[in-house]
Amino acid sequence: MAKLNGAKCRICRREGIKLFLKGNRCDTAKCAMEKNPQIPGQHGAKRPRFTDYGKHLREKQKVKRLYGVAEKQFKHYFTEASRQTGNTGENLLIILERRLDNTVFLGKLAPSRTAARQLIFHGHILINGRRASIPSISVNAGDIITPKPKEKSLKIVKTFMDTINKEQIPSWLKLSEEPLQLQVTQLPKRLDILAPVNEQMVVEFCSR
Ligand code: SF4
Repeated sequence: MAKLNGAKCRICRREGIKLFLKGNRCDTAKCAMEKNPQIPGQHGAKRPRFTDYGKHLREKQKVKRLYGVAEKQFKHYFTEASRQTGNTGENLLIILERRLDNTVFLGKLAPSRTAARQLIFHGHILINGRRASIPSISVNAGDIITPKPKEKSLKIVKTFMDTINKEQIPSWLKLSEEPLQLQVTQLPKRLDILAPVNEQMVVEFCSR
């Protein structure tokens, strides 16, 4: 996951969409997209006139920033998606969706992808009982994701979970609280990915 420099809310305002980069704050009236959704900067109030190239570029940037992926890694994912059979755009989204940091976030163990990434980097997350310290690891069907069974790790994850609304867990994940574990019941499909993304535009941009 790429480091998102600068104010995260500016990124949402730039892309014109809530990217949920700040955890619980994103669901409150304090969200910058609720208060001032215009593009940041001196000329932000003007309605931007995007060229065809600009529209495709913005769509690609939106996906990158949503998942917090750097340009180099995004290109790598695109190459991998185009080598797979089926629709390249769907393949790309599924590859991104299967990242461990995204899975921990969607499974409600962390309030944002950034917080999930921190949990993983600091060794608080295990996959199938083994430490997983790389946020970009791809999860597989049947994987069991748990906090490290140490008091500190459990306390951090439970503190996060107490603040998260657990209603919208995707159908490919199953969260159990006793014992605390997140199971990947199946691989995600395109229909499971609710992010408002036009993957065809991303593919057209990356194929230029
Ligand atoms: Fe984006 Fe709103 Fe969250 Fe800021 S608070 S990161 S604008 S969704």
